[in-house]
Amino acid sequence: MPATLLVIAGLDPTGGAGLLADARVAVDHGVRVVGVTTGLTVQDTTGVRAANGVPGEILAEQLRTLLADVEVHAVKIGMLGSDRAAVAVGDVLAEVRAPIVWDPVVRSSRGVTLFAGDIGLAVKHLLRRVRVVTPNLDEAALLAGMQRIANVAAMRRAAAELREKGAQAVLVKGGHLRASRAVDVLHDGEVIAELDGERIDAGDVHGTGCVLSTAIACGLATGGALYPSVYAAKVYLASKLRQSRVVGRGARVLV
Ligand code: PLP
Repeated sequence: MPATLLVIAGLDPTGGAGLLADARVAVDHGVRVVGVTTGLTVQDTTGVRAANGVPGEILAEQLRTLLADVEVHAVKIGMLGSDRAAVAVGDVLAEVRAPIVWDPVVRSSRGVTLFAGDIGLAVKHLLRRVRVVTPNLDEAALLAGMQRIANVAAMRRAAAELREKGAQAVLVKGGHLRASRAVDVLHDGEVIAELDGERIDAGDVHGTGCVLSTAIACGLATGGALYPSVYAAKVYLASKLRQSRVVGRGARVLV
């Protein structure tokens, strides 16, 4: 039997991000997907128009029913939609032993909010349950309570702060830094590593965070350790960025 990944994410009808993109990434890794959707977004490749969250009680009922029956080997959490959904998901996942990867999506790249309510509640209920949280610079600043993150030193501080708040490991993604190389910071409690990568200029691309976090979750689902899973996910994302394509009038897609 292949490993099974549980995806908890929003539905982007273009398939560039969210559950549909995550499913494609899992297929690429030979991993089987089960999943629930946390929200129905209205969007095309030019951007998100609206996000309609699924109530926390429905998510909790779906997850409890599924998990009572099917064994999962890793969990990927993407867009949650609201603080209530985050609390409901966090409570159900308290019973789950499989490693959890949380991509703490807060808003779309054009600024539409994909998380309503108090992010502090999500942090409180979820962060201590996750194997690794994968914020970009804005998300890391928000979760860590920092003004802004504009350099690698600040990324290291944010990673340390999120470790303090309970995450076992933190991957702060530096793709949005103004720098010639793409540097991510990975803090696993013992080592803080700067993962230096080539900056691949693929233009306006959609769904990079979803693809990276799901690829990490696939590595963990198949028994990989954290560092090799993160490294392999970065290599996978780089190859997807090189092959990104145009499917509509807006951003390019990876899968
Ligand atoms: N829709 C869903 C379901 C998402 O999960 C995300 C981001 O994770 C987005 C839209 C926004 O993607 P982007 O920031 O590339 O516009």
